[in-house]
Amino acid sequence: MGVGAIDASLCLRGLQEAGTLACATRGTDGSPRVRYLSALHFELDAVYLLASRGMPFAQQLLADPRLQLLGAVRKGVSVRLTGTAEPAPEEEQVRWRLRIFQECPEYRELYPPSKHDDSLVFLVRNGFFEYLDLTANPIDRVYVPFGEGRVVESGYRITDACARCGTCQGACPERCIVGGTPFRIVQEHCLQCGACKEACPRGAIERIGG
Ligand code: SF4
Ligand code: SF4
Repeated sequence: MGVGAIDASLCLRGLQEAGTLACATRGTDGSPRVRYLSALHFELDAVYLLASRGMPFAQQLLADPRLQLLGAVRKGVSVRLTGTAEPAPEEEQVRWRLRIFQECPEYRELYPPSKHDDSLVFLVRNGFFEYLDLTANPIDRVYVPFGEGRVVESGYRITDACARCGTCQGACPERCIVGGTPFRIVQEHCLQCGACKEACPRGAIERIGG
């Protein structure tokens, strides 16, 4: 698939088809926390998550709404959504909860009816996707905004200190550095391995993002 065909709806569908997603948050002590989620519902403009109000997961999101959702579309192909979660509006909680229980009946057992009111639905509607296909040659990596989110890219960038010697091109396993003033990394095909930065005799390549 060409990288131009990758948009937010395709990324959302990739997460939906993955079914079970890894979800990373920050613990209330600041440490990283990750778990698998499958109590989910997808709309065109949001992902809905179910959590018990007392669970550390819900408490973490209430304290710090930043999260990442990661799904494997197939071997070597993944979609990551970086965004923020917010509780669904109070008047919509029951509706989305019932929808998730309908789509994930196993959770109806986990949350017996007497405990249904204890669960809380969060939604993620702003952030950005990263679509990564490691099976393509060169690899494909596409960033796509979601809702009102802004893309925060990571990787490497060639600065104006570039002397155009071409050493980095020889070091790049993805052949994704093109000539110019300065040379330029084609970010859609960059593995973010850092080999170019190590090889550059001018120190002209810098790390960007988190
Ligand atoms: S190795 Fe450094 S100086 Fe040489 S072309 Fe690459 S970025 Fe420019
Ligand atoms: S980070 Fe790796 S893949 Fe990306 S341009 Fe540099 S050498 Fe190539």
